[in-house]
Amino acid sequence: MNLNLKKNKIVATIFGLFVLVITLIACSNDDNNIDITDDDGTVAELHAAFAEFDTDETDIYLDGSNVVIETTGRPNHTSSYWGQGNALYIDEPDVAATPSLIPNYDASATLMVSTDPQLASNTTATSLGAIGIAISGAALFNDQEGNGALDQAAASLDYSGGHIGPSEYHYHLEPRAWSDDDEDLIGIIADGFFIYGRKCNSLGTYPIDLDASGGHTSTTQHIDEAEYHYHIINELYSTTGSYIVFAGPYNGTPNAVN
Ligand SMILES: [Zn+2]
Ligand SMILES: [Zn+2]
Repeated sequence: MNLNLKKNKIVATIFGLFVLVITLIACSNDDNNIDITDDDGTVAELHAAFAEFDTDETDIYLDGSNVVIETTGRPNHTSSYWGQGNALYIDEPDVAATPSLIPNYDASATLMVSTDPQLASNTTATSLGAIGIAISGAALFNDQEGNGALDQAAASLDYSGGHIGPSEYHYHLEPRAWSDDDEDLIGIIADGFFIYGRKCNSLGTYPIDLDASGGHTSTTQHIDEAEYHYHIINELYSTTGSYIVFAGPYNGTPNAVN
């Protein structure tokens, strides 16, 4: 083990303790939220779900009544798209990989959402490009590729439902690197609502009251008070053997991820 690796291990351990403390603080709080004291002494709250985002890839902070999510845009897990020689590279012989590699691009992006997102009176269709940010740091995309159905590009998706095109790694399908038929947090959608795996913590199984976007209002592992959130809809997509993360439409008011 070289010195850098040792250093990384120490940093990782310290970071782990930090997360533990934050988690304990969050858990001891009545409403599950993380209290943050601003410069002027007012106490604002960051939703407890934000603690799930990888702090190596994302920087999340309050700005008035908004939450800013800054990300490197890079996934914190293995993929063939890291390219040979990278520590996170794995061989995926069944993936019809595109020539693009994660390290060759700056995929950094920022999303600002309300700390208290509201359902809008009209829905908004999703479009190409990022429609949210995953807890891994990488972008969430909808069920389209270029200007066609995702089917044509499905063979290029890695084991975690992600690929690169044109210049950022992004997920179209259930991100199996950390969520597979469970209630884990997937990330945040551009309208400020969180998206969870196929199951809901409030039920321990698949919700059956979802709207067309996969949303419903219930408690989650992050909040004791029912709130609107999305799920990956438990319907297999095409021949992929997997599930679209989020096709939309947005039920809130989306902001740009850029
Ligand atoms: Zn794509
Ligand atoms: Zn739910």
